[in-house]
Formats: sequence, structure tokens, C-alpha cells
Amino acid sequence: MARIIDGKQMAEALLAQVGTGIAERLARGQHAPALAVILVGDDPASSIYVGRKLRACAKVGITSRQYRLDRAVSQAELCDLIDRLNADPDTHGILVQLPLPAQIDANAILDRIVPAKDVDGFHPVNVGRLSTGKGQGLVPCTPLGCMMLLDSVITQFRGRDAVVIGKSNIVGKPMALLLLERECTVTVTHIATQDLPGIVRKADIVVAAAGHAGLVRGDWVKPGAVVIDVGINRIALPDGTTRIVGDVCSDEIAHARAYTPVPGGVGPMTVACLMANTLAAAQDLDRPG
Ligand code: NAD
Repeated sequence: MARIIDGKQMAEALLAQVGTGIAERLARGQHAPALAVILVGDDPASSIYVGRKLRACAKVGITSRQYRLDRAVSQAELCDLIDRLNADPDTHGILVQLPLPAQIDANAILDRIVPAKDVDGFHPVNVGRLSTGKGQGLVPCTPLGCMMLLDSVITQFRGRDAVVIGKSNIVGKPMALLLLERECTVTVTHIATQDLPGIVRKADIVVAAAGHAGLVRGDWVKPGAVVIDVGINRIALPDGTTRIVGDVCSDEIAHARAYTPVPGGVGPMTVACLMANTLAAAQDLDRPG
């Protein structure tokens, strides 16, 4: 029977570790790390995600400041806010909740955040550090959390076949780079990939991040594979209610070695990794020289 990787429990452990790191900062006379969260408009899903991040901040002792902007905000106004936060010594992390409204050039906004405060790890400098394997950059929270979940069940990555389903800048690409860094043989697949089932069948590690409910069927998964399900999909049930499911048919993969459930797998780890990144950013910014 496949083992269920408990992301909630692992996230609690990581949050406790971050809390300890913050207590040590305070004991040294340093300030608590401070995270600025910018939310544009009133998208319900974005509000839920921001709420979770703010609650996690309160739990571990990170000071959070929320900037709620009207959905009609201009590029210039948003840039001004980021410039102010970049220059503010009391702000250690800056997060812009995506998606942004159509009138905003999201890439230009993400590029404007100074790399040292880019706790989402989306700035080209941090992306470059990850892709050159130089380390020391901030790594996107979801793939970072996925690696920790994989680390809880896999001791030897070197030479394993891994497949990443999805090639987004937020999940798929950074995930592939992290697996490559561990010397896995990585195949990145996407919507135009031919024979996805055939590619998945060869993989020892499967990371599904397509946003397609139940895409990965049980007979695609090799016996003994480890499956990380990143997808978050809301599906309608016959009784008129809805349910959140992942990209993997988890009831069909008893022959896997281990898998993450949805909910309760990658999601909580993503939030906990944001807290870890914010603490890391504060430590680096406060380092003399
Ligand atoms: P995205 O829409 O930016 O990218 C989806 C990727 O999947 C694309 O590269 C696309 O080519 C590929 N894809 C789509 N359908 C496919 C198919 N049928 N076969 C193969 N490839 C396919 O999405 P994203 O931001 O990368 O997010 C992916 C999923 O992960 C979504 O469900 C999202 O909600 C979820 N997500 C979860 C967390 C978390 O914390 N758990 C964080 C980020 C994203």
C-alpha cells in the first residue's frame, strides 16, 4: 500500500523550525522578519491564499503588512509601492499575489522587486541562480516544498528518472531544475507533449503540476514510484457541491511507493516555505557587509 506523505505535518514541523529561528533573532536583539503582501483586486481565490499566508506569519512571529489595492491600480502606482518597500529597511520580504489584472505587466512588477526581498523566488536573478546551480538565491516556494516532501521518502536521487508535468515558471521549470541539481534524469512535459502516459510510466518520481483534475491515471504510474501532486482543481459533484482534487487519481495508485494527498500535501508546504524564505531573506539582509 502506498504511503501517504503528510504535508500538513511536515509543514507544521517546518513552521516550528522557522518560529525557533525567529525567537533566536529576537533574543539577539534583532527585529522580527517583516513580509509585505500586495493583493490587487478582489479575486476570491487570491484572498484565500493571502489569508493563509498572513495566518502563517502570525503563527511563526513574522510581522506582516498587507497592501490591498484597487483592481484599477496603474502600473506606475504599483511600481511606486514596490520601490518604497525595496528601500524600506524594515521590510525583508515582498510578495505580489498573482494573478494581476490585465492592465498590469506582471513580469515588469516581479522584476522590480529587489532580488534579496523576492521571497517568491520569481526575480530573474533568483531564477538565474537556481538555473546555474549557484545556490544562495531564494527558491520558489512550491517546488522547494515539493523537494522537502520528496526528501522525506527518497534518499538517493542520483540517476533516478523524474517527470515534471507542467512547465510554468512558478512550478514546473524550477521543479525540473531542483531535480536536475540532484542528478535525476528529468523530463519536462506540457500540454503539447506526445505520449504523456508513456513518459510517466518510466518515471521513478512524478511531479504533476498541470491543473487538470485526475490527469494522471493509476496505470501511468510505475510500481514503486513517488508521486507529488501539485494540482489544485475544484470539481463539481453530482449533488451540486464542489470538491478540491489534484491532478492524480490518487485512488488508483496503491502500487506507488508514496504520494502526496490533495488537500494536505503540497499546499501547506508552499506556505511554510514562504515563511522559511522570509526568515532567510531577513537573515541575509541583516548580515553585516
Ligand atoms: P499553469 O497553468 O501556469 O501551467 C500549467 C502547465 O501544465 C502548463 O505548462 C501546461 O502546458 C501544462 N498542462 C496543462 N494541461 C496539461 C495536460 N493535459 N497534459 C500535460 N501538460 C498539461 O499552472 P501552474 O501555476 O504551474 O499550476 C499548476 C497547478 O498547480 C494548478 O492546479 C495550480 O492551482 C496548482 N498550484 C498549486 C500550488 C500549491 O501550493 N499546492 C502552488 C502553485 C500552483
